[in-house]
Amino acid sequence: MDRPVTDDDLAFAHAPETDQPFENALEKARAGERLSVEDAVALLTTGSDVEGIDRRRKERVLETADRRRAEVVGEEVTFVANLNNNVTTACNVGCLFCNFKDAAHTFEEGYEADPGVEAAGFTKTPAESREIVSDAVARGIYEVTSVSGLHPGFALDAEHLEILRAHEEPKAVNFVPPERYAVDPGTYVEQLEAMAVDGVHVHSMTPEEAYHARRGTDWSYEEVYSRLQDAGLDTVPGTAAEILVDEVRDVICPGKIDTQGWLEAMEAAADVGLGLTATIMYGHVENERHRAMHLARVRDLQERVDGAITEFVPLSFIHQNTPLYEHDVVSGGASQAEDELLIAVSRLFLDNVEHVQSSWVKYGDAGGLKMLNCGADDYMGTILSEEITTRAGGEHGEFRSFAEYVEMITSIGRIPVERSTDYEQRRVIDPDDPPFGPRLGPKADGTPLLESGARATADD
Ligand code: SF4
Repeated sequence: MDRPVTDDDLAFAHAPETDQPFENALEKARAGERLSVEDAVALLTTGSDVEGIDRRRKERVLETADRRRAEVVGEEVTFVANLNNNVTTACNVGCLFCNFKDAAHTFEEGYEADPGVEAAGFTKTPAESREIVSDAVARGIYEVTSVSGLHPGFALDAEHLEILRAHEEPKAVNFVPPERYAVDPGTYVEQLEAMAVDGVHVHSMTPEEAYHARRGTDWSYEEVYSRLQDAGLDTVPGTAAEILVDEVRDVICPGKIDTQGWLEAMEAAADVGLGLTATIMYGHVENERHRAMHLARVRDLQERVDGAITEFVPLSFIHQNTPLYEHDVVSGGASQAEDELLIAVSRLFLDNVEHVQSSWVKYGDAGGLKMLNCGADDYMGTILSEEITTRAGGEHGEFRSFAEYVEMITSIGRIPVERSTDYEQRRVIDPDDPPFGPRLGPKADGTPLLESGARATADD
């Protein structure tokens, strides 16, 4: 959106009221019946008959979700030994909730920042990505997650690059020849081939990135994802979902693919045999009905992809340093009560998705642990480098050691379990048998990833 957000933009057709009484919705949840969007609205708001969130009702929703979690997955809390290797922050899509990106033109060769302004952001070459991943794999990491800005020089592969170079209106397809940039990111295929070292699991190429990797062509998402799979892609992060309701997307990310495009890309990825995760990014301009509709779209998608979604990842909007906050469109993010209800209702509503993740990066340690008692059962990963949340003002650290995981998970009486990305491999960790380090990876021999007390920095 090239103009400020107005009240008219925020006058949504979908309102967070429902005729469904709170008690009926809770009764259905307790009985394990499949919930409707009306039920979800009643639970997320704690009922349309009360103003704001009713604390007692909220606690009853959380208890119900915690019980459901125990029935579905038991007492184990899982986490994964992973590295974030984001390739570039160059992006000109302009999502209003994002401060990860840096205007793409500032990466061009010869660009000079204003005096006193430090050049921001980074782009990594495929060779640099390989080195970072190789080093992490040698330490014991077995998953690399890579989500990047939509760099205008990025193409799927050499063939795609030629098509984009020949395009009559490169601007219309958001293309700038890669040699115009100080650092050439290579193609998506080259980056994936570089990162797929030593059997590491590569979790990358969101629906938005897949769209970027086919721009200016009539290639299907299946075609794109199967080329990426050949290059080493294992699973697809279902980020860029934000809120899967177009009236919300039109406000916060008008430059992104729409709801239908996101769903289409996810189905295509599953069709070629790639595993998926799904996310929601909430707590900005949307209301509880939008959240409920989003959950319904994820549940329907999971039916169509035959259970390919391994986990649902709620991401609470971090407002600091984002255009939405700086332009006074929002005054903050979700409250803790809203966070708890979102996790709980995700567990209750998504009866076909086994795992719900609590993000310590988004909620912090205490908040993250609390979410594990509201319906969540997965506690993310070690994240050797995490640029996205820290750049947007998140305050919750950049690395989590296995020892910290064991301590935190046992402190709430649960069982720490190391898992593979796809949950196929699990290893229960004995809290009485330190030192704690990963054992599931190709080079994971149980050595701690970093010395106790050490902190990784970007690219460490
Ligand atoms: S969310 Fe992604 S696509 Fe949108 S501006 Fe940020 S980096 Fe670019």
